[in-house]
Amino acid sequence: MKKIIKYISIIIVSTVFISACGEKNRQADGATASQQVFKWKLVTSWPKNFPGLGQTPEVFAENVAKMSNNRLQIKVYGAGELVPGFEVFDSVNTGTAEMGHSGAYYWKGKMPASSFFAAVPFGMTAQETNAWLYYGGGLELWQELYKPYGIIPLPGGNSGLQFAGWFNKEVNSLADINGLKMRIGGIGGEVFKRAGGLPVNMPGGEIFSSLQSGALDAAEWVGPYNDLSFGFYQAANYYYSTGWQEPTATLEFLINENAFEQLPEDLQTIVTIAARAAHADTLDVYSAKNSSDFKLLVEQHGVQVRTFPPEVIAKLKTITADVISDMVIDDKSGSVQKVWSSYKKFYDDIKAYNEIAEHMYIKNR
Ligand code: CA
Repeated sequence: MKKIIKYISIIIVSTVFISACGEKNRQADGATASQQVFKWKLVTSWPKNFPGLGQTPEVFAENVAKMSNNRLQIKVYGAGELVPGFEVFDSVNTGTAEMGHSGAYYWKGKMPASSFFAAVPFGMTAQETNAWLYYGGGLELWQELYKPYGIIPLPGGNSGLQFAGWFNKEVNSLADINGLKMRIGGIGGEVFKRAGGLPVNMPGGEIFSSLQSGALDAAEWVGPYNDLSFGFYQAANYYYSTGWQEPTATLEFLINENAFEQLPEDLQTIVTIAARAAHADTLDVYSAKNSSDFKLLVEQHGVQVRTFPPEVIAKLKTITADVISDMVIDDKSGSVQKVWSSYKKFYDDIKAYNEIAEHMYIKNR
C-alpha cells in the first residue's frame, strides 16, 4: 500500500510539474515546445572551415542555433578532429556523431548506388539534379538506400559544374590520355582508366605536391573557387574545362535516425529547413566565386585554359555508358538498377526540355 501511494505521489508531482512547465511555456512563448536543450556533434570529410565544402556545415549549425533559440546546439568537427574524413558514415551509423557532412560517392564500397546521388559523368547539372532529388523521387530513393544503416541523408550543398582539371601535358587526342597519371576518383576514374589513363585516388591536400614533383601528370579537384585556394596554377600549365566527370557534385548531410526521432517536431523541421537553406546557399557561393576566381586565374596568374577535342569527349561519353551498364549488372542488390533507372528517366526528359529552354537561351543571349 505504501509503495502504491509513493508511486501515485510521483505521478501527481510529475503531472503538476509537467503542467506547470507547459503553462510556463504557453505564457512565455505562446507555444508548448519542449525547452530541452540538445547538443549534437557533426563530423565532416573536409578540413575545418575549408572554403565552400567546409563552410556549409558551419552555416547550417549557426542557423539551427539561431532558429531554435539555442535549443539545438551542433558542434562541427573538421576531418580528423573527432574521426577521419572517410569514417563519417560509420560514425553517424553508430551514433558516435549525430550528424555528418560528406559526399555520397565515398560510400560506394558499401552501396555502389550511392555514387548517383553525388556525381554522374555526363549527367545532370546542379539545377536538374535538385529537381530530380526534390521533385523527381531522387531523395526518397537516397533515404531508402541509407535506411538499413539508420541514417537519414539530406542534400548538403552543391559545387555546380566542376572543371576537367589541371594538366602538365596537353590533351590533343585520345593517345595523349594513354598512360597519363591523373588524380580522378568515382565513376569518372573508372572511365578514365578504360580510356587508357592511370587514375589515382588521393586526398585534396596531397595534390599540389604530387603535381609539382611529377608523381601526377594531371589532377581534378573541384573548380576555380577551390582550385585557386590550393594554388594549383603554380604546379600545372593547363586548366581544362568542362568537368565531364563531375558536371555537378551534390554533398550530403547525414543524420542519425534515432537522434532525429528524439527531437521535438519543431526542431526536426528546423534541421530539415536549415539543411535545405545550406544546400541552396552552397551552390550560390560556388557560382559567384567560380566566376570571380576564374577571372583571377586567367588575368592575374596567366593560366592557360583548354578544352578537350570532340573525339576525346565522344570516347569518354561512350565509355561512361559502358561503365554504368556494368555497374547495373554487377550490383546484385538491385539498388543501382533502381536508382539509375529513376535518374535516367528524369534526365532524358529534362535534357530534352532544356535543349529548347535553358540551352537555347544561353546560346541566344
Ligand atoms: Ca572533383
